[in-house]
Amino acid sequence: MKAETKERIDTLLREFHDLGSRLVGYPCNQDFDYSALLPFLSFSLNNVGDPFHASNFQSNTHEMEREVIGFFADLMRLPRDEAWGYVTSGGTEGNMYGMYIGRELFPNGVVYFSQDTHYSVVKILRVLKARNIMIKSQDSGEIDYDDLYETIRINRDVPVIVMANIGTTMKGAVDDVSRVREILTDLAVTDSYIHADAALSGMILPFVDDPQPYGFDEGFDSVAISGHKMIGSPLPSGVALTRRAYVSRIARAIEYVGVLDTTLTGSRNALTPLMIWYALREHGTEGFRDIVHACLNVAEYAVARFTDSGIPAWRNKNSPTVVFPKPSDEVVRKWQIAPYEDIAHLITMPHVTREIVDAVVDDVQRSLRQAG
Ligand SMILES: *Cc1c(COP(=O)(O)O)cnc(C)c1O
Repeated sequence: MKAETKERIDTLLREFHDLGSRLVGYPCNQDFDYSALLPFLSFSLNNVGDPFHASNFQSNTHEMEREVIGFFADLMRLPRDEAWGYVTSGGTEGNMYGMYIGRELFPNGVVYFSQDTHYSVVKILRVLKARNIMIKSQDSGEIDYDDLYETIRINRDVPVIVMANIGTTMKGAVDDVSRVREILTDLAVTDSYIHADAALSGMILPFVDDPQPYGFDEGFDSVAISGHKMIGSPLPSGVALTRRAYVSRIARAIEYVGVLDTTLTGSRNALTPLMIWYALREHGTEGFRDIVHACLNVAEYAVARFTDSGIPAWRNKNSPTVVFPKPSDEVVRKWQIAPYEDIAHLITMPHVTREIVDAVVDDVQRSLRQAG
């Protein structure tokens, strides 16, 4: 390696070492070890095409990818033989996939989503040119069911596509899909599709004792879950999962690579499916149950610490996202806290310890006191 190159790399590495210990505002689990997979960096790997279909390009990890999809089908209560999915570049691609399927099934459908929906949805709906209506949110971040009811009632003649939040970005709120289905039944809507944006909480709800309704048995038609959030990975990734029957309507065979063109992107990362597969095998369901419980306990601890310090903090049920008044920019930068209008949040991912929470609470308290 050239000396200057080494210097640049070393500097960058030091920076990341330093930043990693103060990442509390974003839902990325830093607690992972994929060093066993380092030898795979020596190959030109590519998961191009449908992981459930043969490919002419053989240096892929489709077999592991199918196992990953099987695991998530189990989690989301979709029989494996009815499931189809693939490992995406992240939650955004998974959401786009869900909206794509929904729009292909119901080309004249209207998409409903709440104010608290992830920022990517607006862009996705523009790309897809899908008609859409934003619904009010409650203070908790959950969708306003009355507004949803009234808005669908006025548009009863067109199919309904709902983008439901299973853990909003800012407040960790979960839209109640069973109530959404009740509304659809009440209004006698026959053509409907529910996509669940479960970027973070898709890896939480299956592991808690009293989850909010989730899963295909509760009405999901597709779901997007991030790989680099709760599971943790050095590369962004996610899972798009839906019913096999829906996908067969959009499949198109491509002779050049001998694949079925069912995925949004062509060439696809082969390392991320391998990483998720590895994490799932190493931790197992029981391991993730422990990880999730530990995170939620730290979140409860954080709410108590804030409250004891006179700072009004709160969190939604089953959520590691702790919401509190926005502190100074300096504190926001120091802890990589995510601010939004007059609130901020920290997310107790596995690497966020009680000691880190203590330090954040102290800094936030000092900052808010100075602001008076
Ligand atoms: C993070 C997140 C996304 C987007 O995921 P990316 O992996 O960043 O594309 C979508 N929805 C929610 C609720 C998220 O928290």
